[in-house]
Parts: sequence; C-alpha cells; structure tokens
Amino acid sequence: MAPRSRRPRSGRPKTLRPARSRPPIVAVRAVRVNLTEDPHAHIVCRVCGRIQSIDLTELDRHFLEELGAHHPDGWSVDGIAYSLTGACRRCREGPAG
Ligand SMILES: [Zn+2]
Repeated sequence: MAPRSRRPRSGRPKTLRPARSRPPIVAVRAVRVNLTEDPHAHIVCRVCGRIQSIDLTELDRHFLEELGAHHPDGWSVDGIAYSLTGACRRCREGPAG
C-alpha cells in the first residue's frame, strides 16, 4: 500500500479571496487591533520636512490592516501609518525664476 500524504485534510492554507465589496481582514480579526483612525500613508520630504498624504486604494488599506497584525507579543495596535521619504518637487527643482 502506498503511503498517504501527511498533509492534514483540514490544513489547507487560508487564502484571501477577493470580495465583491470589501476584502476580508482575516489576520486583523485574530489579534487585538482597535484603530483610533483609518490606516493612512504619507510622504515626508527629507530636505524641508514637508508632509503630504498619499491616496490609498482598498487594496492598499487592506495591506496596511494586515500589517497591523504583525506586532510584537503583548502589544496592542491603535494606529497604522505608512511613511515614505524622499524630496518634494520644490526641493528637487529649486525656487522658480
Ligand atoms: Zn521639500
């Protein structure tokens, strides 16, 4: 008799399927995440310190919410902000004229 696979039948990896309305937030539901504001992203100019918000898609928001589940044991999460750094147009191009 051939040996059976050792993979348990109920052990299928959980996958996130695209939802019709909002994507499921499986990992976040499994941990303590009580956000005081919506996940957001911004970019910070390293030269002048200017900060500008970045528009997020539903997929971006879902990614950030999933990221909220990746925290050290014993911590809670109440905010998720993703930050990019770079140089703003004004600092890259210099003063006009
Ligand atoms: Zn700047």
